[in-house]
Amino acid sequence: MSTHDVIIVGARCAGAATALLLARQGVRVLLTDRAAFPSDTVSTHLLHPTGVARLRDWGLLDPLLASGCPAIDTISFRAAEDLVLRGAPYACDGVASSLAPRRTVLDALLVEAAVAAGAELREGASFQQLIWEDGRAVGAAFGGRGGFTERAALIIGADGRHSAVARQAGAKPIRDAGIFGCQFYGYWHGLPNVGTQIFVGGGQAVLAYPTHDGHHLVLVGWPHARFAEVKQDIDRHFLAAVAKSAPAVAEHLTDAARGGPIAGSGDLGNYVRESSGPGWALIGDAATAKDPVTAQGIGDAFAQAQSLADRLPAALAAGPRAVDAATAAHCTDRERDSSAAFETTLTFAKGGNSAALLPLLRAIAGRPDLISMFYGIYAGQVTMEEFVAAVG
Ligand SMILES: Cc1cc2nc3c(=O)[nH]c(=O)nc-3n(C[C@H](O)[C@H](O)[C@H](O)COP(=O)(O)OP(=O)(O)OC[C@H]3O[C@@H](n4cnc5c(N)ncnc54)[C@H](O)[C@@H]3O)c2cc1C
Repeated sequence: MSTHDVIIVGARCAGAATALLLARQGVRVLLTDRAAFPSDTVSTHLLHPTGVARLRDWGLLDPLLASGCPAIDTISFRAAEDLVLRGAPYACDGVASSLAPRRTVLDALLVEAAVAAGAELREGASFQQLIWEDGRAVGAAFGGRGGFTERAALIIGADGRHSAVARQAGAKPIRDAGIFGCQFYGYWHGLPNVGTQIFVGGGQAVLAYPTHDGHHLVLVGWPHARFAEVKQDIDRHFLAAVAKSAPAVAEHLTDAARGGPIAGSGDLGNYVRESSGPGWALIGDAATAKDPVTAQGIGDAFAQAQSLADRLPAALAAGPRAVDAATAAHCTDRERDSSAAFETTLTFAKGGNSAALLPLLRAIAGRPDLISMFYGIYAGQVTMEEFVAAVG
């Protein structure tokens, strides 16, 4: 007889959110991570209104705002020297603000809420292998402090891009669309809060947005072909890129105003993996990930957590076959709901469409509703076809 219904490996935005939603429904969850919380991870952290609306629904928006996370009500997008589009984020279910919470705060908030709902948390627990019986995953073995093995009806891998659970389960690649970009970012204080600023052109993108502690996150995105070159001397390349695309932002990037080293990643593959099987499932980046050019990863993890947690309690009560059917149905729905956003992200990540988009963007200048709708493409709420049709 196992003590837990579900073991979750990985306790950030996918794993902790799933643990929270399951525990609130009475499911006995063991939430594990090799990290301890609060802790940071390599990721910028813009959250579209879609994700903010979920935090509100889960009762976590007020605590997040109270932690000093500023709401972002305006986006300005400099598409060309003479074209800056200003508008609100595309609203979702009554929420029209984005947020950019530090992962130290957001992930810890989710973990604390999961524990408060009854999930058992084991930090410093490094997943090693699945335990199999008659072709079904029935448990997981962990190393790290102490090391332990536990059994459960379902093992969920929420352990990120290089998921060991996926490897152990033999999850096959469904799609591997390649890597097109790299991103680097840092934090500075003293920038005026004018919402999210986006500057595209000249083979790079620069973004700046406000986050915790009076800091702004400033990021530069380049094509992946430049990754090896820029990382050799990231400070010089980063500051030069911001100075070129966004001189008014660059003015503020002094050493005195700097809130830490520049971090980043070129490990930005776009893929979908087989994400369910007998006794196991994958969510978040373990299951599918796309280039952060559209900043959808955290919101996607939330959406998957909700979809899986809606299905599992009844299935757990009905037995192993129902659990496998529930995880399979979750994956089918996820693919149906996310394939358009996957394709759009690939187009943006390849830097495609820029020339084709410019006439459309000129046509929407001064039309706040259509500018918001354009931002809705980035958030995965609007397809390019719907936008083109609306512009007319
Ligand atoms: C440079 C960059 C910029 C990004 N910018 C944005 C953005 O602006 N907005 C956005 O929405 N998304 C962004 N993303 C994507 C976002 O970071 C991810 O989609 C999101 O973190 C996925 O959450 P997750 O919980 O699935 O995985 P992760 O956040 O990767 O968490 C996985 C967890 O699993 C744990 N783990 C891994 N292996 C083991 C093991 N063997 N045993 C135990 N624990 C393990 C890790 O310690 C970690 O805590 C960005 C990503 C990158 C790389």
